[in-house]
Amino acid sequence: MGASTANFRAPGGIHPAYHKDLAAEQPIAEMPLPAMLVVSMSQHLGKPAEPTVKKGDTVLRGQVIGEAAGFISAAVHAPTSGTVKLVAAVATAAGPRATAITIVPDGEDTWVEGITPCPGWQTLDKKAIAEKIAAAGITGMGGAGFPTHVKVSPPPEAEIDTLILNGAECEPYLTADYRLMIEHAARIWEGALIIAKALEATTIRVAIEDNKPQAIAAMQDAIPAEAKDAQVVVLKTEYPQGAEKQQIFAITGREVPCGGLPLNVGIVVENVGTTLAVWEAVVNGLPLTERVTTVTGGPIATPGNVKARLGTSYADLVEFCGGTSGTISKIISGGPMMGFAQPDLACGTTKTTSGLLLLGPDAVQAYESMPCISCGRCVGVCPMKLMPNELSQFLEAEDYETAEAYNVMDCIECGCCAFECPAHRPLVQHMRRGKAQVMLIRRKQAS
Ligand code: SF4
Ligand code: SF4
Repeated sequence: MGASTANFRAPGGIHPAYHKDLAAEQPIAEMPLPAMLVVSMSQHLGKPAEPTVKKGDTVLRGQVIGEAAGFISAAVHAPTSGTVKLVAAVATAAGPRATAITIVPDGEDTWVEGITPCPGWQTLDKKAIAEKIAAAGITGMGGAGFPTHVKVSPPPEAEIDTLILNGAECEPYLTADYRLMIEHAARIWEGALIIAKALEATTIRVAIEDNKPQAIAAMQDAIPAEAKDAQVVVLKTEYPQGAEKQQIFAITGREVPCGGLPLNVGIVVENVGTTLAVWEAVVNGLPLTERVTTVTGGPIATPGNVKARLGTSYADLVEFCGGTSGTISKIISGGPMMGFAQPDLACGTTKTTSGLLLLGPDAVQAYESMPCISCGRCVGVCPMKLMPNELSQFLEAEDYETAEAYNVMDCIECGCCAFECPAHRPLVQHMRRGKAQVMLIRRKQAS
């Protein structure tokens, strides 16, 4: 099956140094079970899962240890068999504390009974597919962690016609999705067919940036010639081509309205790693208990793409990659543009941990923020067509009403504005704080 190029150019965008060469050619390596797993109940967008086990319980791999606490929530499963050592609140990579279940593995890795493969998934209806995805606790694995069963169950009036598989992986340094496409293209393609069936979508597009020729070739080979209206679309390498709204516009020319969702324009976007997890859940009946994380950066001895159980500590991931050398100036959970700085390596992986990045002194700059010089560069690169210069000044003045009127809630926190700003203004921090304040005001007004 051939490939096409994107027909439209999304606004804004930047070209940071990518550094993907550090880990891109490293095949996915499966990490042995660590001595302990700390499994968060808050691995997704929405309400945290409710723990169903207590200290001293024995658990089996794939057993539900956290029940979904509502429609926008997701179940959490034991990543291996062992004993529950602790149920307590721990800090998450994004900052807030959340309940986590600490499991000491027994080394047997025994699966729970009742795992039911379904190789003939074509006989399932869309409700049955969504139920299998919900039972497996699948959430978006590209970053946001939106529960996948919700995404594949749009309201009937949405009329989804197109599924876009997001294989752009535009964040510098990260290569986990790239390796998944090279090593598991056929499964990802079948996962796409499963999701498309649930959505009743007739068009499938696989979006990949042009700096990943091997992944483009692998996905092209995986799509059979007789597949109707399915194609790889090659995107120009530019950050943030992986952002949903930008990708939808680049491929289809459809513009998601202010405050709207992709389903408002008949489209659902799924990350390629999520799509592979859907394949595992529906075809093999397996819940989500592991993921591939890129462990990379100058201080890492052997950067690579590591398949590890959910709840593996960042320290164990680093040790598996040969440890570190030299000074570590910054630790980031995720990529350098949208990731979260960490105080140490104590956190455990979750369903959304796409990368663990360690930076040395040569890659980290200290700078002082200065007043805006009205150069307009932030406006030119904002993919959401916002005015970060104006917005940051409203937010500094705590004028949240005007910030809301200037569409601060549309900010996707991509960091393009801050990357370009010659005055080193903390623009993303302003936007994050502003969005949180607007949400608070909205909640207060509603109560
Ligand atoms: S962080 Fe927000 S304001 Fe800044 S460029 Fe991205 S979308 Fe625009
Ligand atoms: S890039 Fe920085 S200095 Fe230039 S207009 Fe935007 S906020 Fe002001």
